[in-house]
Order: sequence, then structure tokens, then C-alpha cells
Amino acid sequence: MTRSTKPSGEVTPVGPRQPHPRHGTPCPCGSGQSYAACCGPYLDGTALPDTAEALMRSRYTAYTRRHAAYLKATCHPSTPSPELVLAESVKWLGLRILRREAGQTGDSEGQVEFIARYKVGGRAHRLHEVSRFRRFEGRWTYLDGPPGHSGGGV
Ligand SMILES: [Zn+2]
Repeated sequence: MTRSTKPSGEVTPVGPRQPHPRHGTPCPCGSGQSYAACCGPYLDGTALPDTAEALMRSRYTAYTRRHAAYLKATCHPSTPSPELVLAESVKWLGLRILRREAGQTGDSEGQVEFIARYKVGGRAHRLHEVSRFRRFEGRWTYLDGPPGHSGGGV
């Protein structure tokens, strides 16, 4: 095991340092950053999301790019094979994060409630889900996603 002796082991956070996308397309997840500065490194495997929300966003982006390998790789081992909506007929329109609970760098579990909009055959749909995330071997993974319950009782 090698151990670097840098004075500070801090990792430079990716975030407000890139106020506007300099090159490349805006990230599909709607963060306002360029794909290369946002979800791109996660999908390329060159970086790991450090929060549940970052993983959630990157998985949304993976859907938009039909990146099945990434979606599988970011599922918790106990999660049954997800039904991947990767058909060419599905066009993802946007992502809106409604609520997040835990899922930060020091947490081992987290939840993200979101609405993703997509279109199939000219008809628009909304996917409202509360995704649960859990750390597995140090990295965030997707556990499951019961539908959102913003409507109240049954
Ligand atoms: Zn993104």
C-alpha cells in the first residue's frame, strides 16, 4: 500500500469553480454544468460520485445516453436487475430533484426524491420516485426506488 505524504489530502471539489460550460454540451441532469465537468467523469469511470444525489444525477444522465453498463454497475448487489428503460423510443426530457435526505460524504445511506420527465411516442410521462441509495465497498449504489408519495394517504 502506498501512501502519499502531501500536506493536505483534500480532494478538490467539483462544483462552483466552473460557473458556465466552457466546452461540450450542458449536462443532461440539469445541473447547469457541462457534461464533462458534471456526470461525464462518473460515466467514464474516472471519478466516483461522493453523494447520493450525484449518483442519482449520473444515473439519470446514463439513462439519457443509454449507458446500460453504468446503470448496472451502480446498482447495489441486493438490487434485482432493474428494468432498464433504454429503448430508442424513450426520450428523456429533464430531471428535477425535489428532496434529499442524508446521502452526504459521511453517510452510508441516503434518499433522493425526484421527478424525471420523458416522452414515448409523442406522449409525455413523469416518473416520480424516492430513490434509496446505500454505500457498498465505499461507493454509492442504487438500492431501490418506491414511487413518490406526495399525494398523501391511499
Ligand atoms: Zn450531470
